[in-house]
Amino acid sequence: MLESRILEQIITIVGSENVATERQDLLCYGYDATQMEFLPDAVVHPGNVDEISQIMKLANAENIHVFPRGAGSGFTGGALPKGGGIVLVVTRLNRILRIDTENLIAEVEPGVVTEQFQMEVEKLGLFYPPDPASLKFSTLGGNVAENAGGPRCVKYGVTRDFVMGLEVVLPTGDIIRTGGETYKGVVGYDLTRLLCGSEGTLGIITKIIFKLLPLPEAKKTMLTIFDSIDGAARAVSTIIGNKIIPTTLEFMDHATLQCVEKRFSLGIPDSGRAVLIIEVDGDRELIEKQAARIQELVRPLAGGMQGS
Ligand SMILES: Cc1cc2nc3c(=O)[nH]c(=O)nc-3n(C[C@H](O)[C@H](O)[C@H](O)COP(=O)(O)OP(=O)(O)OC[C@H]3O[C@@H](n4cnc5c(N)ncnc54)[C@H](O)[C@@H]3O)c2cc1C
Repeated sequence: MLESRILEQIITIVGSENVATERQDLLCYGYDATQMEFLPDAVVHPGNVDEISQIMKLANAENIHVFPRGAGSGFTGGALPKGGGIVLVVTRLNRILRIDTENLIAEVEPGVVTEQFQMEVEKLGLFYPPDPASLKFSTLGGNVAENAGGPRCVKYGVTRDFVMGLEVVLPTGDIIRTGGETYKGVVGYDLTRLLCGSEGTLGIITKIIFKLLPLPEAKKTMLTIFDSIDGAARAVSTIIGNKIIPTTLEFMDHATLQCVEKRFSLGIPDSGRAVLIIEVDGDRELIEKQAARIQELVRPLAGGMQGS
């Protein structure tokens, strides 16, 4: 439990409406996707970087552990307040500060939900590829801290590959900026990449500068059923070996296929041992060519099973 004088200081910094110490509130911030639970001593919802800096200075001086938290959907346990302390929730920092269509970059606060950001940039004909399956609720700050990546990482890479710069509050409360807004930023240590994937252990991310891409004109998705796992595995290396990098290459084994068939009755034959879902994107003409070539390459490896 936090001493009342410390709690009073936290309340002075963020306001009483942004601090919770009741058991029912603590329970709501003591879990993540690991399904483990630990009770914090307090949950704090700061509204800006200065408040975060003051909280960190106080916590540092008083030797209190601080656990940054976005949506709590991480699988690494980094947001779990093991041993007590403060859960510092960043979801009030949820603004897209700018989308620069001339330089293809965006600046955001960490509490922006991933899918919301993707939709906003797509309205402007731009593209932010990292697509963890949690994108409907996870935050961009959490994605950076976990270096999250989804199916599109085959072609585009993971979150780290899109982070150009960060603003971070260090455990001492100092605010630093790393990286920048130019692709060529070659001098000094690459603190930006160090912070990506650091799971909240090095500081609180308070701003992110992302690189964006032009939105691909079209995409095409194909599904091939294989009579062996080996065939599906060989299909992956054959496609890439033929110098086609699909946007996604999703693999499902027999057990997964059975579950899908049981739930959705899609008509997947029981002899199907594996499925590959292959997606290509880009210029309309190019993807038609790529899709035709992929089908040509994959058909002999499917062992007489169907593709589409
Ligand atoms: C259903 C589901 C599907 C998923 N699919 C994928 C997937 O396809 N690919 C993949 O890579 N991951 C996936 N994940 C895990 C993924 O890492 C998280 O969903 C997401 O990146 C975490 O975001 P969050 O906002 O929930 O962060 P939280 O869970 O709140 O935090 C995650 C970590 O980041 C730290 N953190 C959060 N915000 C900040 C901040 N502002 N500054 C510093 N540290 C911070 C926390 O301390 C913690 O260590 C999935 C999770 C779920 C539940």
